[in-house]
Amino acid sequence: MMGNQGEVRDGPPEKGGRRAPEPGARAMKVERITLTHVRIPLIEPFRISNGEVSDKDGILVRVDAGGLAGMGEASPMAGSYYSDDTPASVWKFLSDRIIPAAFAAKADSVASINRLLRRTGGSSFARAGLETAFWDLEARSAGKPLYQLIGGYNVPVESGLEVGITNGIPALIATIEKYLAEGYKRVKIKIQPGWDVGPLGEIRQRFGDIPLMVDANGAYAREDIPHLRSLDAFGLMMIEQPLPGDDLRGHAELQGKIRTPVCLDEGAGDLAAVRRAIRMNSCRLVNIKIQRVGGLANAIAVHDLCASVGMPVWAGTMPELGIGGAQTLHLATLPNFAFPTDVESSARWFIDDIIEPLITVREGMIKIPVGTGNCYEPAEAAIRRFRVDERVFEP
Ligand SMILES: [Mg+2]
Repeated sequence: MMGNQGEVRDGPPEKGGRRAPEPGARAMKVERITLTHVRIPLIEPFRISNGEVSDKDGILVRVDAGGLAGMGEASPMAGSYYSDDTPASVWKFLSDRIIPAAFAAKADSVASINRLLRRTGGSSFARAGLETAFWDLEARSAGKPLYQLIGGYNVPVESGLEVGITNGIPALIATIEKYLAEGYKRVKIKIQPGWDVGPLGEIRQRFGDIPLMVDANGAYAREDIPHLRSLDAFGLMMIEQPLPGDDLRGHAELQGKIRTPVCLDEGAGDLAAVRRAIRMNSCRLVNIKIQRVGGLANAIAVHDLCASVGMPVWAGTMPELGIGGAQTLHLATLPNFAFPTDVESSARWFIDDIIEPLITVREGMIKIPVGTGNCYEPAEAAIRRFRVDERVFEP
């Protein structure tokens, strides 16, 4: 289950895991930044332990400079149940705060936008949207795929199936059966108290020893630790965020009592939190989300920290639309990403997507197209069709 490790690479991993990042292009004067709020209906509602959504909201961030455009995506959940950020609050923070600050600081590169965003702090989703647009721009202006700029590899990325909480076990089994036919490399189900041993038992009975993991989005409490020990019997790859995000001590207590590796998501909010979690033995794995940590540079920093202590990571999603999904694919080519990513086919969740080509999973793998930047192009007709708001900013 070592993710990309068995694949043919276009070169050997270098010391410390990452290859030497290649430089982007020279800095360019930013002429325009465009925010587009798009809303795409989901094929089926996405339900986790804290709430449910039936549309996918994304805020696309387009940075124009020197005849090129870099695309980013800020991708908060429509319900504020993963974090306090909503599409409206993220839009406001981008519009009122960090886009004006980027113009004022004459930010013209990945390095300069990161210097600025370290000072502003604030919504990680908003920062990720703006920062990743600069990465795309810098890679496109250098004529290189993004993975080369971040020290990644030209490898296909393993994709894992994610299934929300369903109305009853038969619906869960039917969904898994339908999508396993596409060859997804593992199955992840959302769990909560009262929805764990039942579904897991059925899955094991029906599908045997498929690679299987669970995500509770913090739905359990320390009092549930004896119950969570019973999940060891299912041979899970990991249990993701069983306890509330800030309870690193509780996770350490749990990890000391169960065999299943504990993975942090909400609890790994930034580099400092991951450092604390490692010190406290709160987890054995970390889910890295570009949106949660506020951009690609921060995601790489978490990757490198975990690699330095021998802790494997993997790449999670909100899930994002195609722009955010594409960035996550590039991130997931770094060598310490040791488990399948949550990036799935565009058609898995959305009735359409805002990139060309769509992200597709074949035999469980996603191949990044040949190209520059994030290697997917914005699908302008789809962006217009699903647009609910747009605003253009100039210096
Ligand atoms: Mg999660």
